Amino acid sequence: MHELSLAQSLIELMEDEARRGGFSRVRKAWLEIGALAGVEETALRFGFEAAALATCAEGAELEILTPPGEAWCFDCGRGVVLQALPDGCPHCAGHRLQVTGGTQFKLKELEVI
Ligand SMILES: [Zn+2]
Repeated sequence: MHELSLAQSLIELMEDEARRGGFSRVRKAWLEIGALAGVEETALRFGFEAAALATCAEGAELEILTPPGEAWCFDCGRGVVLQALPDGCPHCAGHRLQVTGGTQFKLKELEVI
């Protein structure tokens, strides 16, 4: 359940921002979670809700953006888009893939009160 610790660190990040920015509540947060980040969205939302209790993020809405996974396929020699791992290459079904994008997990923006 690493979603729980991810949720926890998100809250810590928001608490830091609240102290620095002098706001008291987060109304909405935009996250970018790559399709290949290995994060289960439902579990993350659940963990976030629990971890946010009695913090500046209590009741905050999460807006989750999921950029697609990207990889370089050594078998057909081109960049491909991956929906999930361990999917093979969508063109040649090869598995010699180097993931080049879509593994990010970041807090993009906060709407605060
Ligand atoms: Zn390929």
